[in-house]
Amino acid sequence: MTNHTASSERELREQISMHGKSLFDRGLTGGATGNISVRLPDGLLVTPTNSCLGRIDPDRISKIDSLGNLISGDKPSKEAFLHHAMYSVRQESQAIVHLHSTYSVAVSCLADANPDNLMPPMTAYYVMRVGRLPLVPYFAPGDRLLAEAVADHAQHAHSLLLANHGPVVAGKTLDAAVYATEELEETAKLFLMLQGHNIRPLSEAQCQDLRERFPT
Ligand code: ZN
Repeated sequence: MTNHTASSERELREQISMHGKSLFDRGLTGGATGNISVRLPDGLLVTPTNSCLGRIDPDRISKIDSLGNLISGDKPSKEAFLHHAMYSVRQESQAIVHLHSTYSVAVSCLADANPDNLMPPMTAYYVMRVGRLPLVPYFAPGDRLLAEAVADHAQHAHSLLLANHGPVVAGKTLDAAVYATEELEETAKLFLMLQGHNIRPLSEAQCQDLRERFPT
C-alpha cells in the first residue's frame, strides 16, 4: 500500500489515472461519471469535470487549493465539493473515491434499509474495509446542503452512500479508498442477490474481534 508522505505528486497523478482506468475497464463507472481525489500538502488533486475515468491524463488532473480555487490543470469535477466536505472532517483521510457504481446505487434506492447502517456485516473483508455504511439523504447534484450532510455523516464513517446517487469512500491511501469502494460494490451485489433469503451476518462479537485484529 502506498504511503502518501513518500509519494511524489507525479506518482499520485499516475496512480489516479491507473485506478480510474481499472475502475472504468471493469464497469464500475461509466461515461463521465465518478471522480477520484488525493490530498496534497498544498491542496487536492481531483479528476476534471466531464472526464472519463478510463482516460485520465495525469498532466491534466485538476489541482485545487483548500478553498477550491484552481491552481493548475483542467476545471475540476463539479462534485469536488463532496471531497472537500469529507476531507474537512477526516484529517486522516488522504484519498476519496466517488462512483455511480450499479449495485451500490441500487442499495441507495432501497426504501426499507436502515439509514444508520445500510447493509449487514456479511463478510470479514466488508467489516475490515468498509465497516458502517450510513445513508446521506438525497439532495440534487451540486446542492450545497449535500456538502453539509456529507461532512456531518463523515465524522463517524469513512464510507458513505448518497441516497439515489452512489458511494463516497475515504481512505488513508488511494489504494485503501479504491479497495474499500470495490468491497462495498461487491457486498452490495451480494446483499441484493440475498434479498428474500435469510441472511446469517457476522455477530457483533465477530465484528469486534475483526476491528481489534485489523484496526483501521
Ligand atoms: Zn455523483
